Amino acid sequence: MKYIVLKRGEKIKYRCIRSGRCCSSGPNVALTAFDVCRIANYMGVDWRELKGKYIIAIIADMIAVPALRSVGGDKCAFLAYKNGLPTCSIYPARPMRCRLYPFLPASPSKKDIVYVDTYCPGVGKGDSIEPPWNELSKYYEEVKYHYKRMYELVFEEGYEPLEALEKLIDEVCNNIVKK
Ligand code: SF4
Repeated sequence: MKYIVLKRGEKIKYRCIRSGRCCSSGPNVALTAFDVCRIANYMGVDWRELKGKYIIAIIADMIAVPALRSVGGDKCAFLAYKNGLPTCSIYPARPMRCRLYPFLPASPSKKDIVYVDTYCPGVGKGDSIEPPWNELSKYYEEVKYHYKRMYELVFEEGYEPLEALEKLIDEVCNNIVKK
C-alpha cells in the first residue's frame, strides 16, 4: 500500500466516489468500545447481539482487539447495496476509522500528521480538502481511553483478555446510555 503523508495546514484532493473498496478489502477495521456501543445504540440492540455476526475479537499479546467481521473473506458485514451502489447499513454510526478513511491516523504522539491511503480511488478527485483533524482528535481520545482501561483490566485487575474487553464495552455502553 502507498501512503501520502499530510501535515497540518496541507490539503489534498479527495471526493468519495462510492467505489466500496474501503468496505471490501478484508477484516482490517479495528474498533474501540465506543464504536461498538454507538453501533449497538443505532441498531437498538444490546451490544452482545453484534458478537460473531458483525464484530469479532482478535487476541494479540493478552489484549483483545474488537474488529469488524468480514463476510466472504473480504466484505464488511455491514456493507449493503442500494441501486447497485455500495452502502453502509449503519452509516450514521459507522466506526471512527471508517469516518476518517482514506485518512489514516499516524499515532497519538504525531497529532500533526496523517496518512492518506492511495488505494482509495477517490484520492486525487474533487476539491482540495483538509484532513478531518477534529474527528482525528476524538478518535485518539477514544483509543487512548480504550487501551488504558484494557491494560488496567488485564494487567492490574487480572481479567482474561476477552472478559476484559466485555467489561470495558459494558462500562462504556452504560456510560453512554446514562449521559
Ligand atoms: S462499517 Fe460501514 S463504512 Fe465501515 S467498512 Fe463496514 S460498510 Fe464500510
